[in-house]
Amino acid sequence: MTAPDAETQMQFLFALRSRGVTEASVLAAMEAVDRGLFLRGIFSSRAYEDVPLPISCGQTISQPSVVGLMTQALQVSPRDTVLEVGTGSGYQAAILAKLARRVYTIDRHNRLVREARQVFQSLRLANITSLVGDGSYGLPDQAPFDRIIVTAAAEDPPGPLLSQLKVGGIMVVPVGQSDAVQTLIRVRKTEIGLEYDELRPVRFVPLLEGLGKET
Ligand code: SAM
Repeated sequence: MTAPDAETQMQFLFALRSRGVTEASVLAAMEAVDRGLFLRGIFSSRAYEDVPLPISCGQTISQPSVVGLMTQALQVSPRDTVLEVGTGSGYQAAILAKLARRVYTIDRHNRLVREARQVFQSLRLANITSLVGDGSYGLPDQAPFDRIIVTAAAEDPPGPLLSQLKVGGIMVVPVGQSDAVQTLIRVRKTEIGLEYDELRPVRFVPLLEGLGKET
């Protein structure tokens, strides 16, 4: 996989901006992380298109503009510790790693975590810790988190994740009962409770219980 040429990179960034990704730090992080490294086989030639694409274990790497919009909604700062539920290819985690102090990412598929870890190592992203497990329960040993991002759709924001969010923290999660379209929501934890914002319709694979069977 070769890095995108200047014109491809320009079109990639243009597509992100035209779909609402305007925050300079997020665009810079997305410019710095080559999406092609997170794809394999025939799909790597489509890495710079604004579409979701298949990865191992029947999962998907999200659409770049959705990755950008979710990252933007998370308002990550350089001192933040972030939890991502749904490592998938590792692309979202790598972008978060450019913006945050530390990123924990968890997926229920061992194979996805193993493959993502190889890319993190090749990019020398030493501030990512990747783990296999059911992310609906979060990571109590590493909690609380400044930011939590869930990249699979839940019927409701999982309770353990809400309780592992710091006061002042933000969580972004696709929520909905339908398999087809869900609503991306942002939850802010304040001293007096939780504030919810509906951001936009999205399509994500479901947040499933337990571990995946693939090795
Ligand atoms: N963020 C990923 C990326 O950048 O490529 C895309 C994530 S993909 C749309 C959703 C991921 O959530 C899948 O890899 C799936 O295995 C994972 N997933 C689903 N339910 C989960 C759970 N309970 N715990 C952890 N991961 C889960």
